[in-house]
Amino acid sequence: LTGLPTMTRFFELATNSRNKLLKEGKCPVLLFLDFSGMKYYNSQYGFSEGNKLLIEFAKLLVKYFKNESCGHFGQDHFTAITSLDKVEDTLKSLLKDSEKLNDGKSIPIRVGIYKNEEGIEDVPIACDRAKIACNALRNTYISGYNYFTEDMLKEKMYRQYIVNNLDKAIKEKWIKVYYQPIVRAVSGKVCEEEALARWIDPVKGMLSPAEFIPVLENVKQIHKLDLFVVSEVINKIISQQKAGLQIVPQSVNLSRYDFETCDIVEEIRTLVDKASISHDLITIEVTESVIGSNFDYIKEQIEKFRSYGFAVWLDDFGSGYSSIDTLQSIQFDLIKFDMRFVQRLNDNQNSKIVLSDLIRMASSLNIDTVCEGVETKEQMHFLQDIGCSKLQGYYFTKPISFEDILKRYESGKQIGFEEPLQSEYFEQIGRANLYDLSTIVNEEEYSSQGLYKTIPMAIIELSNEAVKYTRSNASFRTFMKRSFDVDITKKRGINEISDKEKSFISVIKQCVQSENRLFIDEKLPDDSLVHYFTRKVSVNPVNGRIAIAVVVISIKSAEEGTTYENIAKALTRDYFNLFYVNTETEEFIEYNSKFDEDDITIERHGTDFFNKARSDALKRLYPQDRDEFVKSFNKEYILKEIKEQGTFTLTYRLLIDDSPVYLNMKIMKMGQSSKYIIIGVSNVDSQMRQKEALDRVKQEQNTYLRLKALSEDYLCIYTVDLNSEYYVESSALRDYESLGISKEGADFFKVSHYNAKKVVYKDDVNLYIDNFTKENILKTINEKGMFELKYHMVINDKLVYVYLKAVLVKETDGDKLIVGVTSLEEKDK
Ligand code: C2E
Ligand code: CA
Ligand code: CA
Repeated sequence: LTGLPTMTRFFELATNSRNKLLKEGKCPVLLFLDFSGMKYYNSQYGFSEGNKLLIEFAKLLVKYFKNESCGHFGQDHFTAITSLDKVEDTLKSLLKDSEKLNDGKSIPIRVGIYKNEEGIEDVPIACDRAKIACNALRNTYISGYNYFTEDMLKEKMYRQYIVNNLDKAIKEKWIKVYYQPIVRAVSGKVCEEEALARWIDPVKGMLSPAEFIPVLENVKQIHKLDLFVVSEVINKIISQQKAGLQIVPQSVNLSRYDFETCDIVEEIRTLVDKASISHDLITIEVTESVIGSNFDYIKEQIEKFRSYGFAVWLDDFGSGYSSIDTLQSIQFDLIKFDMRFVQRLNDNQNSKIVLSDLIRMASSLNIDTVCEGVETKEQMHFLQDIGCSKLQGYYFTKPISFEDILKRYESGKQIGFEEPLQSEYFEQIGRANLYDLSTIVNEEEYSSQGLYKTIPMAIIELSNEAVKYTRSNASFRTFMKRSFDVDITKKRGINEISDKEKSFISVIKQCVQSENRLFIDEKLPDDSLVHYFTRKVSVNPVNGRIAIAVVVISIKSAEEGTTYENIAKALTRDYFNLFYVNTETEEFIEYNSKFDEDDITIERHGTDFFNKARSDALKRLYPQDRDEFVKSFNKEYILKEIKEQGTFTLTYRLLIDDSPVYLNMKIMKMGQSSKYIIIGVSNVDSQMRQKEALDRVKQEQNTYLRLKALSEDYLCIYTVDLNSEYYVESSALRDYESLGISKEGADFFKVSHYNAKKVVYKDDVNLYIDNFTKENILKTINEKGMFELKYHMVINDKLVYVYLKAVLVKETDGDKLIVGVTSLEEKDK
């Protein structure tokens, strides 16, 4: 095709040149040159254009190296020999010239260089090494060159060894499966085990998966290993069954290539069914990279696994790709948070917020969570506090072999396993979202009492013999110490429980009978008054234990006390309206206080309280709050609420001097069986306005944190004002910043088309410009809710496959377009 010497001919010619160069005292170098993306070129322009490119390139080679110093090894592979002193300059001009080949329709060229310094290596070997150096540039997408090093050779031989010996390693059981326990956060019991492969080589010793898995993935042989791991896991389950040992679900890791090279779902199902093992004993772990490749197909496969009863977990969540998209469109049974989340906990407060937020999000999606990489007690405690359901890490146990697990059993060192019957119970306790409970009280108000930083909360397990504080936060532990003088972190026998604590327990036990949540008021030993919220969470079917959630909503000191007088006094300080009502006769007394005076100044008696109060309020009620007020403020509803909840509260706005003012009404019973209620109305306008402002700030902060946490791989995010087309870059990775695109400015669409010519891969420029127009984007969003576009960019000389997503956000000052660009995986082109 090109008229250049073929391989054998080149070997002869190059041997002569090499000897000649050596005689002249020069160092010969062998070059291997390869086009990057030739297949893609052929499929895009056709073979004849491809051939034209190769022919023109051959001419260029001859121009620089002379016919007898270069060769064409077929396909798009070329070789050349020259001397070290000239090589870099020559290559620089050659590569520059090659950009103009075939009328500028060229593609990048990678060059590997082997320095034949002492002339020891034969030309064929030298060529091979130049090729290894060239292949090391496989993932770059610009022209460039690279020198051969000994490490490359070692690496290649290592890869070869793994590939050649896989079958043997499986047959001879060099590959062993290790198991790492996954521990239930609330019980400390093993609830799952993860199977992890080890290659224990007779020559090379123990190889970690990081060393052999990428190699096997590269040659698409990983399914052999993964199916072997599944069969070993099955063997383990069978021998555990025979030995009468407790069995928990076993999770196995799958690679994206498993889904490409075989029907992995059916393969695994067949293996499991042949052994007559229940599907819920095998869990499938997939990482986000699995999904990256072929979304619809993988989604279907995951659904198939789940429809067969295999749980599917999303592994390494947060480590890359577009995590949030994945979660929204594929249903997983559990999210495993990438180890980096736990490792970063010590760094700063933000990483704690991010992780708690993400776990809360998972809980509200009803998805279980595992954090892996737990190495310290502190990490464990934190994760328990924020409601992570399961934990995995060296703190509990490293991955060990099945034999070692058995040995641990014998020596009594094994962490206990969870009884399957109890799993559900523990799942419920673990998931009981302490944050949800916290929303029923006003955190600001609470912490202003200065006692506790967070609301005291705990989950307590009760049985006839014992009390266990299964989950509690630091505030609750302090509360128990202060009020009952107990250290709930210490294990205590039933005899060591003091009378004080016993009375506390009998109080919170009241909720066991009621199916609902229950509010309880109780006097503490020091005469202060506590307001508890309690709820029965679950009952353990095996041992009858009952789990109860307890929240300490408020504590009033003894002076604020319980007598009517004190309450009235205390209340008038805060309330500008106070009523004392007989619920049977509907007679009432109204107390009015001036804002800055402590004493009750006006007292008024009356009848027909509910009707009067309602019509009074309606005269001045802010129109938007009318419906809600009418619905809630009537005798039946109020009495029902008080009976069930202990209190009734209502927030509404009255028009005072023509402007709306927030008021809060709180109604309480005077005693358990009393017919008197007390009603306080307070002006909460400034609090509410502050809260509104705070909520806004929180909202913004949340959105920002979430975006940041969920999109660490977002290359950049833009906010565009649709009216003015003014844009601001909200966040960008350093790689992206290196492109030097301006961070803010007018004419967003125009500017992006202009930039596209610089940063979008040239074959995709038209695609980009045609689709990324204001009109098209708005039209698509109108139809589908969002706009998507996938294309290639060239960032730091690498071809990066990116995914652009745009959504519309309505804001008070007009519609905003949010545009995010994520890096997808680099494609082997
Ligand atoms: P992975 O699935 O994320 O597995 C967790 C890795 O973290 C394991 O490494 C485990 O030993 C390690 N690890 C567990 N606890 C801690 C800890 O507290 N601190 C630290 N620093 N590390 C901890 P391993 O066994 O080397 O596996 C590495 C990766 O190789 C796995 O990551 C998984 O992606 C892959 N892999 C392992 N076995 C298989 C397999 O049979 N098939 C496939 N396809 N992939 C596997
Ligand atoms: Ca895993
Ligand atoms: Ca993982």
